[in-house]
Amino acid sequence: MASPDEVDPHLVFTVASVWREERISCPHPDLLRSFTSGGMAGGAAEFVAFHLRESQCPYCNAVVEAQRAEEDRAKQPVLEDLRDRLLRSTATELRRKRV
Ligand SMILES: [Zn+2]
Repeated sequence: MASPDEVDPHLVFTVASVWREERISCPHPDLLRSFTSGGMAGGAAEFVAFHLRESQCPYCNAVVEAQRAEEDRAKQPVLEDLRDRLLRSTATELRRKRV
């Protein structure tokens, strides 16, 4: 069993640089955000889609996951507010018809 001291330094270096190169190709979290919110089109959207689905980058998929959860939480009150307003206007409409 090799102790950590005996690990080939060249191998460690290679793994580290491959990881860095992989991460360099990662789209910026801002780009991931505009992709998930649907505000991205064309080649950039294709690149992000490929990166997430084909490359299955664990880092970016985790970022997208977190951003989606964040957006869902942010959307919730707006939807409820909209539903309340719709219910109120429907009730007003019904009352008006009855009079
Ligand atoms: Zn990535």
